[in-house]
Amino acid sequence: MDDVIVIGGGLAGLTAGAYLAGAGLATRVLERAGSLGGRADTHVRDGFHFNLGPHALYRAGAAHAILTELGVPLSGASPATEGLALLGGELHALPTSPRGLLGTSALGARGKLEVARFVAVVGSRAAGPERWARASVAAWLDEHVHDPRARLFVEALIRLSTYTNAPELVSAGAALAQVRRALRGGVIYLDGGWRGLVEGLADLAGRAGAVLETQAAVRAVEVRGAEFRITLDSGRELDARAVVVAGSPELAARLLGAGRSPALDAAAANAVPVLAACLDVALTSLPCPERGFALGLDQPLYYSVHSKSAALAPHGGAIIHVAKYLASPATAAAADEARELEAFLDLLQPGWREHLAQRRFLRRMVVQHDLVRADRDGPPRPTATAAGVPGYFVAGDWVGPGAFLADAAVASGRAAARAALAHLDPRLASAA
Ligand SMILES: Cc1cc2nc3c(=O)[nH]c(=O)nc-3n(C[C@H](O)[C@H](O)[C@H](O)COP(=O)(O)OP(=O)(O)OC[C@H]3O[C@@H](n4cnc5c(N)ncnc54)[C@H](O)[C@@H]3O)c2cc1C
Repeated sequence: MDDVIVIGGGLAGLTAGAYLAGAGLATRVLERAGSLGGRADTHVRDGFHFNLGPHALYRAGAAHAILTELGVPLSGASPATEGLALLGGELHALPTSPRGLLGTSALGARGKLEVARFVAVVGSRAAGPERWARASVAAWLDEHVHDPRARLFVEALIRLSTYTNAPELVSAGAALAQVRRALRGGVIYLDGGWRGLVEGLADLAGRAGAVLETQAAVRAVEVRGAEFRITLDSGRELDARAVVVAGSPELAARLLGAGRSPALDAAAANAVPVLAACLDVALTSLPCPERGFALGLDQPLYYSVHSKSAALAPHGGAIIHVAKYLASPATAAAADEARELEAFLDLLQPGWREHLAQRRFLRRMVVQHDLVRADRDGPPRPTATAAGVPGYFVAGDWVGPGAFLADAAVASGRAAARAALAHLDPRLASAA
């Protein structure tokens, strides 16, 4: 019998596994896919390292702090903050630096003042953005940003920092806190891609004694008194004293069985996923090397040459991530996102097709399983113990208060491990 079985070998599950095994518990991580990493995986083709869409680690975020605490090596560099803004079909200087703000043709004088005030307010220690947790981004903007172009820019900055394109739903407090993290600490693009994080966590967990299994899809978890029977798709059965489910809310609810945890059933039914369409491109060289970063203001588009800051491509080559922040809740509209993203790339790197080494289009990626809603619109996000079943814990980017993306995944992985330790042996909990 294992002490803890972790279901899901992405960042959340591996973080939980590293803490649990590090505290001395007999730990097993079961991953459905043929390799670990989930959405943090990196595919390598002909020397080009492809993350699954654009991935940037927030230096002031929870994941960076926890991975550093664990000793996972983080090598990479921050991208330049200057770039281009797409507005009305034309490119302008992006007002992300004082120089860009002064010089940009994307904003008039009033818009520049409002953007400068926005940056000051969001960055100010006195006025913590958390106090706007109850309001939606749209409601907050109605009150605080009046110039239409300044509003477009602030919305683009919120999309960039949170990946969320849902101003009517998302919490202004959480979104502005995330923008503050982005402005304060910036991000890093990781050398070799995010697989390095996955390998670092897997290595830690493995060295501490955790058993890491791939191609081990779990079908059901049965509560048997104070223990659990875990059944795999293969029919194999395993027993554990505690379980951490580090996948989607739907998985966490389904494994237990409908009706077993009303809180998880509700979390699965009410989740509003954050989605993106991604065009990942490898070029043998860049037609316009100076164009490193661009953001759509009146269109929810993103472009960044990640290989400018991180080692991701062979000498002279480039990895470019282009993405569209899809609106949440998702609509069934049949937009041709691949063509839209290619047209954006045509504008930024004309002639890129002549340099093409690899191209991959990911139509509908789940960036985050549930967006961070304005408090007034629903119950708080679930915590590790949300299931209400002693010994059954959850982790993932839909768990934990106010955090986004990998920060939520890694922080909830640690929280689930701590909760499992406290459940099994309160004396061990302080070790994590
Ligand atoms: C396009 C894109 C861009 C992103 N950009 C950023 C970014 O810039 N910054 C940032 O911080 N975050 C970013 N993210 C988010 C980040 O990648 C995720 O939040 C994080 O990787 C989620 O980790 P996780 O472990 O919670 O989930 P996952 O990575 O989804 O892991 C869950 C794992 O569970 C496994 N699993 C599912 N069902 C079963 C089962 N029945 N049995 C066993 N295993 C199972 C899955 O195979 C998967 O490996 C981005 C995500 C995407 C898609």
